[in-house]
Amino acid sequence: MSPDPSPSETPRRVAVVGGGVAGLTAARDLHLAGHEVHVLEAGPRLGGKIQTGPFADVDLDLGPDAVLARLPWGIDLMRELGLEDQLEPQPPGSAFIWSRGALHRIPEGNVLGVPTDLEALAASGVVSPEAVERAALDLEMPADAPEGDESVGSLIRRRLGDEILERLVDPLLGGINAGDSDRLSLAVGAPQIAGVVHRHASLIEALRAQRAAAPTPDPSAPPAPVFYTLRHGLGQLVEALGAALEDADVRTSSPVASIERAGDAWVVTTEGADALEVDRVVVATPAFVTADLLRPTAPSTADQLAAIEYSSVALVALAFPDDAAGRPLDGTGYLVPRVEGLLLTAASWASSKWPHLSRPGRFIVRASAGRLGDERAMEMDDDALVAAILDDLRTTMDLAGEPSEVRVTRWPRAFPQYTPGHLERVDAIDATLAREAPGIALAGAAYRGVGIPACINSGHQAAAEVA
Ligand SMILES: Cc1cc2nc3c(=O)[nH]c(=O)nc-3n(C[C@H](O)[C@H](O)[C@H](O)COP(=O)(O)OP(=O)(O)OC[C@H]3O[C@@H](n4cnc5c(N)ncnc54)[C@H](O)[C@@H]3O)c2cc1C
Repeated sequence: MSPDPSPSETPRRVAVVGGGVAGLTAARDLHLAGHEVHVLEAGPRLGGKIQTGPFADVDLDLGPDAVLARLPWGIDLMRELGLEDQLEPQPPGSAFIWSRGALHRIPEGNVLGVPTDLEALAASGVVSPEAVERAALDLEMPADAPEGDESVGSLIRRRLGDEILERLVDPLLGGINAGDSDRLSLAVGAPQIAGVVHRHASLIEALRAQRAAAPTPDPSAPPAPVFYTLRHGLGQLVEALGAALEDADVRTSSPVASIERAGDAWVVTTEGADALEVDRVVVATPAFVTADLLRPTAPSTADQLAAIEYSSVALVALAFPDDAAGRPLDGTGYLVPRVEGLLLTAASWASSKWPHLSRPGRFIVRASAGRLGDERAMEMDDDALVAAILDDLRTTMDLAGEPSEVRVTRWPRAFPQYTPGHLERVDAIDATLAREAPGIALAGAAYRGVGIPACINSGHQAAAEVA
């Protein structure tokens, strides 16, 4: 929730560096509370990773396209901004995995890719019969969960075997942040699993017990949507945030070059403009930018921030005539395990996943490439990238024919990687920053969640901290 709009304290002058969703949320909260807000965004537009553009007669998201409903901050903010009637729920529909030469539906009864129903796993064909047998050993193995955080990969390889990790869990979980589940913190990347590993020796039993304890949904009620989007793309959220800041000072094409202390105040310098003196600063840029900006005043914080690694992703949107589909697009799309060696990491059937994007005669695919340790897509020019993606789409979904429209969007160093111990390190960053640079707060995807709801919450928290 946003703060009470009546200022409870003396209004402050606050600079918000970075106009992505985290920075804009912080700026809106501060503006509503009566503070003097200056938003400084490097790029020519607001929104950061959120970008919507015209494509195949619709407004298509070229970055994120789905907001998780389970965490309240995303949908709550959209409602507060008057976007409730623009919300589009994602209808129920399963996804597939390209594995062992075919697309297989992801088996029922999995928790973030970890199977709890071994019969459904065997029937799915995603993994070999040997992998199902290996997974079943988990039911007999003694307890072996370590005390602290570990990687998702180390837990799943140990309990269920390599194939379950590589063909199910890594595509699902590693796919969310273009990461590598061998280096992904269990505590933050899979909290639902981390919360139960100590309850049973067997991981499968622990997850079965968790499912059994969950309240049974009312069979007469339609299932609650897990994800929502906005009718004209998530860019509507950015526009609404921009409109809420209409009478604040919001500057695009204003890259911040330095943040320096001046007594109790801070001086924020943007390239080609006068320095701005403020009482407080919210820094909502990617961690590697934040590290550079803070280094002169907060060198230890900067070292910790600079250690957060990022992966890059390219998103290729393609429209095809209906008769190019070699198979029914009866789901949301599919994931491609790293071990398959393709460039393609995922293909979302955007016009099936979101019915409001469907139009007669054509369908839209959002194809992704790039993950931690795989920068091939970033090194190719657009023509080579599109040709390689088309090859992979032809292999995996029997595509015939050529696309009628293509758009490439590159997201270099876009996904912060949460390695084991990440949350403790973020606590340490907060503590070091409070010591080195009081009056500065951090927000954004690098800290306590990469998804839009978590980034929005980080904006609320940063605003509360500096106010
Ligand atoms: C392809 C892709 C798909 C995704 N899909 C989903 C999804 O479906 N659902 C979901 O919830 N999440 C998704 N995410 C993740 C989510 O979009 C991001 O984590 C989130 O939008 C990040 O918001 P942010 O405000 O932290 O950072 P950003 O959006 O990166 O904003 C930071 C801003 O800081 C600016 N900046 C940088 N340097 C400076 C400087 N020196 N001075 C001033 N400004 C500066 C940048 O230009 C940028 O605008 C996806 C991400 C990508 C890349």
